[in-house]
Amino acid sequence: MAIASVNPATGETLKTFEPLGREEVEARIGRAHDAFLAHRRTPFADRAARMRRAADLLDADRDDIARTMTAEMGKPLAQARAEAAKCAAAMRFYAEHAEAFLAPEPLPDPAAVKASRAVTRWQPLGVVLAVMPWNFPLWQVVRFAAPALMAGNTGLLKHASNVPQTALYLEELFSRAGFPDGCFQALLIGSAEVEAVLRDPRVAAATLTGSEPAGRSVAAIAGDEIKKTVLELGGSDPYVVMPSADLDAAVATAVTGRTQNNGQSCIAAKRFIVHAEVYDAFAERFTERMRALRVGDPMDEETDIGPLASEQGRTDVEELVADAVGRGALLLCGGERPARPGWFYPPTVVAGITPEMRIAREETFGPVASLYRVDSAEQAVRVANATSFGLGAAAWTRDPAEQELFTAELEAGAVFVNGMVASYPQLPFGGVKRSGYGRELAALGIREFCNAKTVWIG
Ligand code: NAP
Repeated sequence: MAIASVNPATGETLKTFEPLGREEVEARIGRAHDAFLAHRRTPFADRAARMRRAADLLDADRDDIARTMTAEMGKPLAQARAEAAKCAAAMRFYAEHAEAFLAPEPLPDPAAVKASRAVTRWQPLGVVLAVMPWNFPLWQVVRFAAPALMAGNTGLLKHASNVPQTALYLEELFSRAGFPDGCFQALLIGSAEVEAVLRDPRVAAATLTGSEPAGRSVAAIAGDEIKKTVLELGGSDPYVVMPSADLDAAVATAVTGRTQNNGQSCIAAKRFIVHAEVYDAFAERFTERMRALRVGDPMDEETDIGPLASEQGRTDVEELVADAVGRGALLLCGGERPARPGWFYPPTVVAGITPEMRIAREETFGPVASLYRVDSAEQAVRVANATSFGLGAAAWTRDPAEQELFTAELEAGAVFVNGMVASYPQLPFGGVKRSGYGRELAALGIREFCNAKTVWIG
């Protein structure tokens, strides 16, 4: 895949980049490793001051970088601005809390292990390779970079090939903020070059956010090298609506949950599992609101839904819908690409989903909602769990027993009750099953790329 910014709203190529050669990649790995040897010894206060400076710079750059993101991958401009603001907040969060998250933990009763003192110390691992996707081109990177740099690691970013300008912006941002040369570098390389980087002995670990095939490949290579990985992969999140739910709120949030970021979010609500008592009302109101969304130029402040990020992405979504309709699903709205340039796809609702349809099993990475009718909370859990994914899940109910059932039984890394799944710096984020393993954000996220060193003193 060429490394290039292509405007998905028009199909126009904005800028192309030469991939780095092997020698330059080698040199950058060397710089990352040298930087680690010094950075790991710096006081938290110094790292925090730099991280806060990065947050301030990002705030100042918000409009410009938002336009870059929108031009490269098509998200509505207001959402791009919000993403930049969220990144600055996450940087400040880790600037404030990293030291406490990584504070040595003394064992209260060292005599139990025949020691005078026993402590767990959290120490950085080294150079971490981050393989990242285009859908939240700032946020996916920052939620890795902020904790990694605060912990004393250094980062090498292999960003998705369609967001090179955002990748270079991030490298420059951390440099302007005062992080020494080599602490955070972008590698403009194709995915075929990832293996050599990962196998380099100076690279300690890897984190990948992206699709299942990419995750499988990186995890296999890292496994061969016995290197730590964190994988944040795809999702097909269920969104359960029960009769006691506040239906207006459930419908409004369902629309946002499915269509935010033009429907290209790993934690988007994708399968809407609705109790028969409220199914018709939900389907009618939800479809009405989906149909009313404005599809258009993502730079236009009035636009709700911009184009999909790539032509292939749109083809994938079209094929999933065609397969479902071909096997008897009912199209309640959308389903046909508009006659205009760019990779637009309308908000679409399909009902009558059966297990043999691909849409029931695969991730729909676009503004397409699938509706399922169920007769009980237990059946809702069964349908929700009938997937290989396990990222997020939402359940709408005011019944305490149902709330307990869903939080206990839904197979997911996060269950949100009466709300939509979202990521917050304060909460751990990650999946189970084929959605990946490991956690980002919160204290768990910063500890993923640390050595929990046991210290025993006799
Ligand atoms: P993708 O094709 O897997 O690409 C993600 C990154 O992996 C890109 O940098 C890509 O580079 C690289 N890559 C692809 N194949 C690779 C391979 N065999 N070896 C090494 N690197 C490889 O995914 P995407 O289409 O950009 O993103 C969409 C997917 O990401 C969805 O499945 C979505 O659910 C998932 N996602 C998950 C989360 C989460 O937190 N769980 C968050 C966001 C997105 P190139 O661009 O050069 O191919």
